[in-house]
Order: sequence, then structure tokens, then C-alpha cells
Amino acid sequence: MTRQSSDHIVLSSHPGAQGQARLHDIHWGKPTAAERGPVIASLTDVGQRNAIGSHAGAYAVYRALAVASGALQRDHRPDLTNTAPAEPIGPHPQWADPDKIVSLDPWGHLVASVFAEHIAAGIDARPTIAVTKAHINMPELKDAIAAGRLQPDGNILSDNGDVRVTKAAIDPVWYLPGIANRFEVKESSLRRALFEQTAGMFPELVTRPDLKVFLPPIGGMTLYFFGDVAKLGKPGTRVACRLHDECNGSDVFGSDICTCRPYLAHGIEVCIEEAQQGGVGLVVYNRKEGRALGEVTKFLVYNARKRQPGGDRAETYFARTECVAGVQDMRFQQLMPDVFHWLGITRIDRWASMSDMKHGALVEAGIEVVERVPIPDGLIPMDARVEMDAKKAAGYFTSDMPAAEDLTLPKGRALDE
Ligand SMILES: [Zn+2]
Repeated sequence: MTRQSSDHIVLSSHPGAQGQARLHDIHWGKPTAAERGPVIASLTDVGQRNAIGSHAGAYAVYRALAVASGALQRDHRPDLTNTAPAEPIGPHPQWADPDKIVSLDPWGHLVASVFAEHIAAGIDARPTIAVTKAHINMPELKDAIAAGRLQPDGNILSDNGDVRVTKAAIDPVWYLPGIANRFEVKESSLRRALFEQTAGMFPELVTRPDLKVFLPPIGGMTLYFFGDVAKLGKPGTRVACRLHDECNGSDVFGSDICTCRPYLAHGIEVCIEEAQQGGVGLVVYNRKEGRALGEVTKFLVYNARKRQPGGDRAETYFARTECVAGVQDMRFQQLMPDVFHWLGITRIDRWASMSDMKHGALVEAGIEVVERVPIPDGLIPMDARVEMDAKKAAGYFTSDMPAAEDLTLPKGRALDE
């Protein structure tokens, strides 16, 4: 689109509205990048678009503010010089199966190289995955060194507690027919619900059934790798993993009403051990705050739990959530296995999670889980006993099932304690 026409609003909500056929269709699940084709969500050249939504969708409104205030050129395109992945990932055979990966673009980190010719020809293809390297340091890891549970090796783990990691950020890219299959609903029903629940933000969901790929305006995930990433996907490689759903209050601020940060830190410890023995450790951190109900709902539930007659106790833990949110949980682990398929992982040797839903989703996806590693009892904060008992009673992996009468006892603090 030329500059002169940029004052017009161009709707992409009907096939052919842009006056020309799309040049680049997406053939999801094809084995090579060339056959699959780039995901194009250009906002300034709607004739190119073959996807619904926009890149970095969760931040689209901030981008709008930047454009509206004049801080950002509306037709800015990223200069991708030197942004290539710091470690190679894939391609793995799972990338060529349209059913195995439906919620991320397996070529998302390689866009600048595999679609270089498209980009040079003016196509607005952008990475949806970035892979870099870092050092991390958490007080819990220093404690583990002091307690003798972890031994610094000068490579993966330093004496000062620094841990060398590779990390990847992944924005969601949804292949709508595949998402509908995963949830066993009709694609048209899925599209309609997405259209309605975003208050009509994306009209193409209902007017453009020919566009099969959607960049949803939600948070994605971050991966932390311990050890040699290149070993992933090879049959002999042992893998340890913690799959963690975001909990800002605990993860960042150390709030003691749940076991999130202690379990995350324990998972990282397990990952470091595995990497030191020649395997690979992996933490998957999903932006699904408060069981994907959001933090406002979560804090409302905390109040409802602590103010209810009889005090905060396990037997009413899920009911209080359901009263406020209408459901107990919206994380929907059906999409979670995609990231393991992306990494070529078919077996997880040490799985630092007690969630039956996460475990069930992995097994359903054909990924073997060898050993399940529960959080050590000593790491569970006092106020988190309610949550832990409730989850165990609801089917969490444990050898220590709480007695029925135990679930009726108030164990959580009152609001003003
Ligand atoms: Zn938590």
C-alpha cells in the first residue's frame, strides 16, 4: 500500500475486499518452510494478509497508543539483523504433522532465514519465536548449594549460584481447524465464540473462513533450557521438565498462599541436576495467570475463601473459584503438548508436576512420562496447605492423600492475620 492511501481505512473482513487474490497461502503442517509458507499479518498491506489478528497480539493496544501518539511509524517493519536464534531448534519430524502442533508456528524462530526471500520482496513476515541466552540466579538455588543438594560445576552452575540457560519466547499462532479438533468442536463454533468473546474485535473470524490462522491477543510462553538444547529430539537424551503456569503473586513476590514459586524453584533444581548429568532440563512458563482466569478474579477468590463461614479450607477450595469465575479452571491443557512436539520431545524422564490434567494431556499426546516428581513437603508454605490438600483430593499425583475430615479443617490464614 502506498503512503497516499494510508489515510483510508481498508477492511480485510471480506474475501477479495482488497481487490486481489492472496499470493501466499498457508499450508499448515507441510514438511518444509517453503511448502508451508509464511504467516503474514501485515497491518499496512492488507492484500498480503493470510492470517487473522496481529503480531504480538497481546500488545496490540500499546502499539496502537504508540502509533496514535506519533511515537511509532504505522508502517515500521523490524530490522532483523543479528536477531537469529542463539541455539538451533529443529526442524523435528513433528513439525510435519498438522495435528501435532496447532497453537504455535514451528518455523516462528526461523522466519528471518527461511522466508528471507519473501521479506526481501516486501512481504511483512515476522518472527513469533525468539531464542536467546542468559544467566539466571535465584536465592533458592543458592540455598540448594548451601544445603549440598546442588553442586556447582563451573559450567551450568557457578559457585555464586549463576545458572547458564538458553531461553525462548513464544507468541501463540493458532491453526483454527487444528484447535477446533483438539477441543472436539466445529471450527465454525470455535470461530463464533472467539468473535463474540472478543466483542467482535476480529470480524475475519466469522467472515473469512478461508483464513485458517489466528494470532490471538493473549500471552504466550517462555522456555528456559538447562544444558545442550541441540540434544533435544535425540532418542538417548534424558529430559527433566517443570511445566509452570504463571502466578505473579508467588513467582515474583513470594506470596505464600500457593506452592507456585517453591515448586518452580524445585523444578529448576531438578532441571540443573539433569543437565549436569548430560541431559536437558526445561522449564515451560505459560502466561496463564490465575488458571487463565486473570489476577482480578484470583484476588476476588482469595477474599471469598478467607471470608466464608468456617474459614479457608480444602473442601470448598474449588467451589469458591467456581462461584466467582463460573468455572474452576480455564487453562485447557489440550494445547500444552504442542511445545514438546515443537522441541522433538517424545519422552520426559523427570516430570516436576503433580497436576493430573497436565500429565493426562501429555499422555494423550503420546508423550511418555517416566517419573513424576512431587514438590517436597518441606517446601510447601503454611498458607498453601489448603490449595495442596484440595488439589490432592481432586486427583493430583500424591502418595499422601489427605483424609476426608482433614479437608474440612480451616488451614488458611484469615484476611487480617
Ligand atoms: Zn500460585
